Amino acid sequence: MGEHNYPDRSMAPRWARYLCMGFGLFVVLGGVFSAPRQPDLFMLVTSLLVGGTWFAFGKYGGLPLVETVARWQPPTVLTEITSVQRQGLVVMRRRKWTMWAAIPATLGLAALLVAFEPVGRPEMILLVAAVPIAFINFRYLLSRCPRCGYGFFTRSRSRAAPLHLASVCGHCGLSLHAYSEE
Ligand SMILES: [Zn+2]
Repeated sequence: MGEHNYPDRSMAPRWARYLCMGFGLFVVLGGVFSAPRQPDLFMLVTSLLVGGTWFAFGKYGGLPLVETVARWQPPTVLTEITSVQRQGLVVMRRRKWTMWAAIPATLGLAALLVAFEPVGRPEMILLVAAVPIAFINFRYLLSRCPRCGYGFFTRSRSRAAPLHLASVCGHCGLSLHAYSEE
């Protein structure tokens, strides 16, 4: 349901995918095999996260996208904006505000945790804070355009497309501000 409806996106070239997967494995194995000699939970968790992310990026051939509307339909005309598309833009705005709100909230929480030092390991606290921050950021940055179904912040149809922050979709030009009816 859903995913297969969306337009196909090409993967990164095979050599680039294998390079990313190989690098990811290298980082993961490096973290695992250095652990018994020098037990360090922070380094182990970081290498698993970083290496796992590189491996998944290579396997998928780029970045996944996040839905903005529940039942996306290919647009029939690109000159009008439907109510479903407007709802998708409202979802994107909420993700954007969550992204900005998460920064002071996380910094405040991290400061509190460091002040009380419950585990005596401030770098662990940073790691614990970094994962939800990354999740919240990417949820916005990887939003699908509610109209054309491609990445709102991409300009290429490849899964490996770089992200460009803009207020209009890089493919169909839908404006982030078109959420309210004129
Ligand atoms: Zn679009």
